[in-house]
Amino acid sequence: AHLARINAVDEKVNAFLHVDRQGALEAARAVDAKRAAGEKLGPLAGVPLALKDIFTTEGVPTTVGSKILEGWIPPYDATLTKRLKAADVVILGKTNMDEFAMGSSTENSAYGPTGNPWDVTRIPGGSGGGSAAALASFQAPLAIGTDTGGSIRQPAAVTATVGVKPTYGAVSRYGMVAFSSSLDQGGPCARTVLDAALLHEVIAGHDPLDSTSIDAPVPPVVEAARSGDVRGMRVGVVREFSGEGYQAGVMQRFEESVELLRELGAEVVELSCPSFTKALAAYYLIAPSECSSNLARFDAMRYGLRVGDDGTHSAEEVTALTREAGFGDEVKRRIMLGTYALSSGYYDAYYGSAQKVRTLISRDFERAFGEVDVIVSPTTPTTAFPIGERADDPMAMYLADLCTIPSNLAGNSAMSLPCGLAPEDGLPVGLQIIAPAMADERLYRVGSAVE
Ligand code: GLN
Repeated sequence: AHLARINAVDEKVNAFLHVDRQGALEAARAVDAKRAAGEKLGPLAGVPLALKDIFTTEGVPTTVGSKILEGWIPPYDATLTKRLKAADVVILGKTNMDEFAMGSSTENSAYGPTGNPWDVTRIPGGSGGGSAAALASFQAPLAIGTDTGGSIRQPAAVTATVGVKPTYGAVSRYGMVAFSSSLDQGGPCARTVLDAALLHEVIAGHDPLDSTSIDAPVPPVVEAARSGDVRGMRVGVVREFSGEGYQAGVMQRFEESVELLRELGAEVVELSCPSFTKALAAYYLIAPSECSSNLARFDAMRYGLRVGDDGTHSAEEVTALTREAGFGDEVKRRIMLGTYALSSGYYDAYYGSAQKVRTLISRDFERAFGEVDVIVSPTTPTTAFPIGERADDPMAMYLADLCTIPSNLAGNSAMSLPCGLAPEDGLPVGLQIIAPAMADERLYRVGSAVE
């Protein structure tokens, strides 16, 4: 049924880069066979899922939305892919994304933008716009995203779906193509809080193949998602997540959610986290710095595209020609910014300062979580903007992640879930919930109460 739905609507939405019809049918039949034989089934047996094209899939193309990996077939599964298969999930295919997960609109994909199912002339968010659009257009009930600065939560907000960035280190990065390794985190995307929790439980857990993987039990997210109880919880509202640039209808829906939490028995506390105003600036030094280093591996020798390999060019020239042809503008912009920020003489002023801001942000969170159990905010300052509107204005594009980036810098956990439509444009608004690291279950507790 989901393959038929993809056939019917994805020409318009462009959520998938690759639909693995044969693989999906084989996986579904294997579940049927197991069931018929009375074998034990995985926890999500037979449930179809849309996988962001940043996770390697053995024998199935993985492009990361880039021309530089066009035609590359990974010889191995990411740990996350392996876990999905072990849970008997049916992977439908690979979803569209901004190239190397750099963007907030999916317009930076080398394979064309994805449309927002609410209005296909608008962006579905990014970088995981394909996964969010697949959920919102009922092409898949579950999806996977990755969140370096907001790429799970911001697409969830603008498509009225649920997206969770687990605590940094909760979901293995092995086989997840690296953008900014100290920020990147895979996570669940779904249409309900409970569905997200069920997927969270399957993909999280220690992995010796990822040196930053957390070696501790997965928090009780499913139990929390079934509770719906926020009585006695302390909920923080951070002053810095409001003001100029926030759409009126977004603030209205957010304030109604805060009111609802109060009615449900939570105590609402106003807080200030002054360093959050510097988060965007710090992020746009740290993420490009790490990306400039991570993307050095795309040298035309190891993977995918190779340009100028005709015997007339040196190896260095082949690398340069391939990177020139294979990377898009935003990726090049970040590599240049990062290389500059890390160069000798500038390192302390740029990268060093950004790291100090990162520490201040962690301290602001620590202080805040001394007073409250969770923080709530709008997920993104505006509803979905029209495709093309911010394409030539990187600074305007970067503002989409104003509220999501602090959690990546601090490594804590955060969720976006729908909280209604903005009255002025009828488009979805997302509520963000932030919890301390290793306390992801609080997201699900609060989410299940206000859903
Ligand atoms: N939009 C942010 C960026 O462009 C975040 C992307 C992400 O989380 N992968 O870097």
